Amino acid sequence: MTKHYKVETFDNNHVVYRMAKDNKPALTCHSGEIIEIHTLDCFSNKLLPEGSRLGVDTLPNNNPCTGPLYIGDAYPGDTLKIEILDIVVGNLGVNLIGPSEVHVDNRLESYEVKRIPIIDGYAEVTPNLKLPVEPMIGVIGVSPKEGSLPTGLPGDHGGNMDCSQIKKGSTVYLPVFVEGALLSIGDLHALMGDGEIGGCGLEIEGKVVIQVTVVSDKTIPGPMVSIDDKWIIIASCNTLEEASVEATNRMLDLLIDFGGVNKEDASLILNLSGHLKICQLVNRLKTVRMELSKECFIDKKLFK
Ligand code: CA
Ligand code: CA
Repeated sequence: MTKHYKVETFDNNHVVYRMAKDNKPALTCHSGEIIEIHTLDCFSNKLLPEGSRLGVDTLPNNNPCTGPLYIGDAYPGDTLKIEILDIVVGNLGVNLIGPSEVHVDNRLESYEVKRIPIIDGYAEVTPNLKLPVEPMIGVIGVSPKEGSLPTGLPGDHGGNMDCSQIKKGSTVYLPVFVEGALLSIGDLHALMGDGEIGGCGLEIEGKVVIQVTVVSDKTIPGPMVSIDDKWIIIASCNTLEEASVEATNRMLDLLIDFGGVNKEDASLILNLSGHLKICQLVNRLKTVRMELSKECFIDKKLFK
């Protein structure tokens, strides 16, 4: 039977600053449907007007997310598969430069808002430098099992992972902790260096087109991404070291539990081919990813 997809657009009036199971759904859909989600930038677009200032014109909360999306077929223990079909960003992005304890800009004495136009797919960073945009999603997450989490926090529910690999063509897998999953998305970046060393990327409004599918026979502990020939495990912890260990352990589990590889070979494979990379080191919890070629899995269909 031919599958029919419903296409829904919900605007950025449906904004949340926390991921929680008592958030009222902005939209209800079902497994397999395609959704277009419009998002504000992480400063709620308040820094776009020339002359607007951080802390003066901005809101108390950053990282507004659009949602939540209630997926009718999702239940605790399921896995949510989110295919990123498209990301379209606006025509003006914002970046902040200034002092900080963790990044390169600590040579600077004060903050400055940089407004960077996007023209024909290029960010005009300086009058002499244009860089091609690589749109990505900073925050994509579901409700935790209990309580609520701010949209600025990454974790096993996804959230503010700032993973540059969550982009058009990738597929994000998240655990489902509550009925309906309650998926929210925000914090698009037109461009961001791995590590997000300046504390923000090229922050920008935009829209994301996703297809959400419920995988009911697999449970995962935290976020995963499939892109091109790679499987990626994402982990967020108090330190980069802890996140590195967690991401590595979870990739070992994936190879052994889902991938048809024994534990000796799994260790060998990660020693030789596992690539540990920093997503971001600027949030309260730090995010690391372990990337591994799909060729390393004997059973290549981890999710049917
Ligand atoms: Ca972010
Ligand atoms: Ca951001």
